[in-house]
Amino acid sequence: MESTNGFGLERIVAEFTAWVTSLATRVADLKNEQDVQTLDLDLRNGGRRILLNLMQTLLQAAVTQQMEQTRICPKCEARRRHQGVRPRKLLSSFGSVTVKGIYWRCPDCGECGHAADSLLAESMSRLMQGRVSLLGVSLCSFDKAELVARRILSVPVDDNTIRLLCMKEGWVAVQQ
Ligand SMILES: [Zn+2]
Repeated sequence: MESTNGFGLERIVAEFTAWVTSLATRVADLKNEQDVQTLDLDLRNGGRRILLNLMQTLLQAAVTQQMEQTRICPKCEARRRHQGVRPRKLLSSFGSVTVKGIYWRCPDCGECGHAADSLLAESMSRLMQGRVSLLGVSLCSFDKAELVARRILSVPVDDNTIRLLCMKEGWVAVQQ
């Protein structure tokens, strides 16, 4: 467990263990198809919540670890100044995560940037972009794509976001 120290991963492992233990107590109550359906749904939702938490924790750990390196200005290599800690959002395939990082400003050339810029250049992960644009293009309806994203991917994405994404990437998704 040494390598997980400091990242908050012990908490996630403990949460997972507690979840599995609570699921185990339900074995005696599984009597019919309805019970199995409920179990199926609970596993999907519970698992996704834990994976979302894991995604957020790992990304935050990466941003924190690289924080000091990102201080160096990419334009002129001067040491940039701390402008406060700001949140940065990412819509991953597990749902929305938020990481916090320092916003830097260069005193020499004025170049600004967030510590997470190189990791989270876009507001949606590439995997999620691929899935969402595939839905939008294959269903030929952004309303339907919004519904399917919510039901199948269990991640809310509004129809306008899907429309913009398809305009940008739709043709690529169709070809794939
Ligand atoms: Zn600079």
